[in-house]
Formats: sequence, structure tokens, C-alpha cells
Amino acid sequence: MEQKDVKVYSHSRLSSFEQCRLKYKFQYIDKIIPEIEKTVEAHLGSIVHKTLEWLYSEVKEKRIPSMDEMIVYYSKSWIEEYSPELIENNGRDEKHYFNKGVQYLLDYYNRYRPFDDNTLEVEKEIFIDLDEKGEFKIRGFIDRLAYNLKTGEYEIHDYKTSNTMPKQEKIESDRQLALYSIAVKEMFGKDKGVRLIWHYLFFNKRIESKRTEEQLDRLKKETLELIRAIERTTEFPPNKSHLCNWCAYKPICPAWKNEDLIPKKPRWEKQEKLF
Ligand code: SF4
Repeated sequence: MEQKDVKVYSHSRLSSFEQCRLKYKFQYIDKIIPEIEKTVEAHLGSIVHKTLEWLYSEVKEKRIPSMDEMIVYYSKSWIEEYSPELIENNGRDEKHYFNKGVQYLLDYYNRYRPFDDNTLEVEKEIFIDLDEKGEFKIRGFIDRLAYNLKTGEYEIHDYKTSNTMPKQEKIESDRQLALYSIAVKEMFGKDKGVRLIWHYLFFNKRIESKRTEEQLDRLKKETLELIRAIERTTEFPPNKSHLCNWCAYKPICPAWKNEDLIPKKPRWEKQEKLF
């Protein structure tokens, strides 16, 4: 039987192409492994996610870990996966980032204990067929999937550790969780309600949204068109922007060849003025 050539994309792969084609080429075509793969912010985000995944896995087993146990788990994971190269020359040390994560988790714990919103799965892998032939797929991971017994809706929970809060318009057009809701509807029934919930841990706030069937159909088509455009692309120019400060390929990027690789202003300076 003829083997089908299946193309699997992720939301971050699509975002990478939209942000900068050269970055996309480095990462997904040339498959260059950068010297420093993670920023310290990415490390913080990954350990906080890992800790919440562990917390809810325990809850699923009918055990609620104490706050101290949670922080011990976080600290151990931080140490195991930390590397000094992660820190950039921006004046903030490891302790600063470590403590930020502790604060996020304590706030979350105090707000949601006893975590009884009926979690079904954590880090749930999903696939979505974008076309009828099953040639193009989206793969992703839902941070946490719950079924709300009061509303009868499925809930897709996503944790964010960034220092900026998006406007509601941005949330209403967010692609990632909307795509994941297509997968949830495929699993449990198209008629089922799905609520999208983002937890902005820095602010201890949650934002919610929902999508209609029409919106999801349109999203599927637009995502497929974007993937087809990526497949046709032959030119991959750099796109310099403030986001380059978070790009792991900056040290090898020709657009930054003759420039200082350290941001002129510390990155947090701009962010903190927002509050
Ligand atoms: S540093 Fe900027 S321009 Fe260069 S590859 Fe990364 S995102 Fe693109």
C-alpha cells in the first residue's frame, strides 16, 4: 500500500514562521540546535508547568499535596534542569527567576486549592486532521483538560508565565487553544461546549473565551492555507524585531552580525512600566 506523506505542524512552528522566516528555517528546515537552547524565562515557564502537571497528577490520584511539598518539587526540578548559561547579562540573577516561580505557584495554590474542578488529563497530546485526506495535521499538548460538572463544558487550561497580559481581542483570536478545542470536540462530540481558560500566573488572573462552530471551521481552513503557504516558501529572510531578544539563533543570525547581542535596555524595564 502506498505510504502517505503526513505533514505534522505545531502551533509554535506556525508562530515561528509568522514571526521570522529565517528563524523558522534555522529551526525546522536546517534543524540547527542552538548553543543555548533555552532562555531563563523559558526555564522558569517549563518548571512551573512541570510542577502544576505534577500537582494535578497527584490530585487525580485523590491526594492533595501540601504547599510545602509543591515547592519542594519545584525546587528539585529547578536544580535538576538548571544550567548557568541560561542567565543573560541583564543584571538579574537565578534567585530572581526562581522566586518568581515560587510566587506564581503559591498564588495559584491559594486560589485553587482543593483543585476540585474535575481534571481529566494533564499534558494531553492531541492531533487534528486539517484536511480530509489526513495529509496535514496539527499536534499539540493541552496543559490540563477538565470537565466542569456544573456547566457540562470541557475546559482547556493553559498556564502563562509572561509578564504581559493580552487584551481580550487578542484572546478572542488566539489560535493555539482554539485549535485544541477542535481536538476536544473530535474526542467528545461536536455538540459539546468547550471553554478556553488561560491562567496568567504573574497577575494571578484567568481569562476565558469560547469559539463558535463557524469560527472553528474558518480557523481550520486558515491554518491549512498557512501550512500550504509555508510548504511553497523558498525565501527565508530575517525579520528583525524586539522578539529577536528571545531568539536562540541571534548569535548566528546575519541580521545581527555587526551589532551588540546584548539588549541595549534591560528587557524588564519596559515591561515593569506597564504596571
Ligand atoms: S535573531 Fe531575529 S531576525 Fe534573526 S533569526 Fe532570530 S528572530 Fe529572525
